[in-house]
Amino acid sequence: MHAQNRPAHVKVATISVACTLTLLCSCGESGGGKPIAPTSPPRATPRMLGTGMPALEDVPNRPLYAINVTLDYANGSLTVQERVEFKNPSNVPLRQIKFNVPPARHPNAITVKDARVFGQPANLRFDPVGTALIVTLPALLPTDAAIALTFDYTLKLPPAESMVGAIGGDDSSSGPNALIAGHWYLMLAPWRDGNWDTPGFYPVGDSYNDELADYDVTILAPDGVTVAGAGDEQHNGRQWRYSLRNARVFAFGASDQFAVEKDDIVIDGIEIYHYALKKHANLSGHVLITAERALKLFGQLYGPYPYKTLRIIETDRAQGQEYSAVVGLGSVLYERYPGGGSRHDLIASTAHEISHQWWFQTVGNDQIKTPWLDESFARMAEVKFYEAYYPNDVDWWMENYLRSKKPTGAIDGTLGSFGDSQAYLNGVYRRGAMFLLDVRTAMGTTAFDAAMKDYFVVETDKITNANAFFDALARNSNADLSVIVRDYFANPPVLPCKISANAPGCRK
Ligand SMILES: [Zn+2]
Repeated sequence: MHAQNRPAHVKVATISVACTLTLLCSCGESGGGKPIAPTSPPRATPRMLGTGMPALEDVPNRPLYAINVTLDYANGSLTVQERVEFKNPSNVPLRQIKFNVPPARHPNAITVKDARVFGQPANLRFDPVGTALIVTLPALLPTDAAIALTFDYTLKLPPAESMVGAIGGDDSSSGPNALIAGHWYLMLAPWRDGNWDTPGFYPVGDSYNDELADYDVTILAPDGVTVAGAGDEQHNGRQWRYSLRNARVFAFGASDQFAVEKDDIVIDGIEIYHYALKKHANLSGHVLITAERALKLFGQLYGPYPYKTLRIIETDRAQGQEYSAVVGLGSVLYERYPGGGSRHDLIASTAHEISHQWWFQTVGNDQIKTPWLDESFARMAEVKFYEAYYPNDVDWWMENYLRSKKPTGAIDGTLGSFGDSQAYLNGVYRRGAMFLLDVRTAMGTTAFDAAMKDYFVVETDKITNANAFFDALARNSNADLSVIVRDYFANPPVLPCKISANAPGCRK
């Protein structure tokens, strides 16, 4: 994973030099593969594609975004120059490149003024379609080629919603006290199953299908506004620069009321920052110690946290929200906190959102099609957190978050299959946690914990799926899980034979 944290273009350049010198090299991450002969010598001059479209010399193995933002904090609006380098993600030449733009669900939220291939003067045709932007290239992009596209646009963040008890809505919004920007920029759509994946926006849950990318972002903010962005930070006057590698999303918050506190305890080399509104600065200690404990525990349980910093940012929303290397916590969580104690949403939500750095950021999933693969796991992480640090509160947690809600519903629905936030919470969060708890009871805690770690390691940096999870369970247990799976899934997956008592048709 450390190797993958390096900038893609640096890595590719290094490999191409090594290949040239030795003429034979093993370029795979795993090493030890068959020697591969270089197909062509390094290019000294940019390769020109059709109609003079210049290809990138170094083909990045994941997209690289370089973004300049001028922030109009008072109006919640951003003036943006974005450049994205990417290679053709498909196995066919492409004329159209598609982007997801979640804020475009609001009329006139985004105004794209200019789109070009970097290095070419001609303007490109671009068509907004729902929450997608379709860019038409002047010529086909060959399967092995990479280009850079540049955009100029303005974005008006929607007003922050405060939907207490609900899950979903905009993860980028501006409120009276702070703004938060999550999926706010033009995001190259994933290429999946032979098409660009532009799923539109679902108001319930996290309507995102992120893949890994690298980010270099500069934000110019007004005097007196503190910016809190993801990754390595360089701050000089009004300019805030961030570098983030191998991330699902680049998020930042901003406020003229932030009180910033850096934790004086560094866990596993990770610096933790808390950005609370000044009126809630007295609660920083509670959030920071929870964050410390969560980082430490999840690092031990699953595997390493992928960054050197974690920023926890108070937002004007009611709910928590996960981003890469950043966690958002809604003001409502702070306002309702009695000022001490662990039996509260502020503590549980902090642990929950931090666990998404493992289940969402590192082990990725399609949050629209398989939301249970991050939310059930984040809920289970809350259980582990309370078991580790507040064993006397575990029963309170079970009663408050599960039993008193008497949840019903299947855990494996897509976002679009849930009629409202409560149905979604019941199925994916509550029944999701109950499913994992039942699996743990059936397997035993030692085998379950080993399987979770195994699953995390194998699925690191991937978009995971249910089969990968059940395969990990089967590598660590032979408990028959058929009845439990039938109880919780609307469409029960075909289980490995080892954990289904060799049921007819089981996976070998
Ligand atoms: Zn969550």
